Amino acid sequence: MTGLIQAHMDFRRHLTYKVGSQIIFSMPMLLMKPQCERCDKPLPKHSEQAFICSYECTFCAECTTGPLQHRCPNCGGNLQPRPSRVETAES
Ligand SMILES: [Zn+2]
Ligand SMILES: [Zn+2]
Repeated sequence: MTGLIQAHMDFRRHLTYKVGSQIIFSMPMLLMKPQCERCDKPLPKHSEQAFICSYECTFCAECTTGPLQHRCPNCGGNLQPRPSRVETAES
């Protein structure tokens, strides 16, 4: 297989990998996302530059505070800073 593998998020929030125009892999993306859905900026797990809405759409700080104005373009929800570590429910 030759060519560049491209990954993108479609409007149903499925992560899709393509080579050219051929889809080779697609799955619902429900886990914490490693990159901004708008500009593909890498957002590592511990990044404090990540913003999410209540449906876990993920965007970088520049998109959130800039063009998106803290509003998720997928669902219209409010974007807020993503916790930089996973909370464990121990009490
Ligand atoms: Zn971005
Ligand atoms: Zn959203």
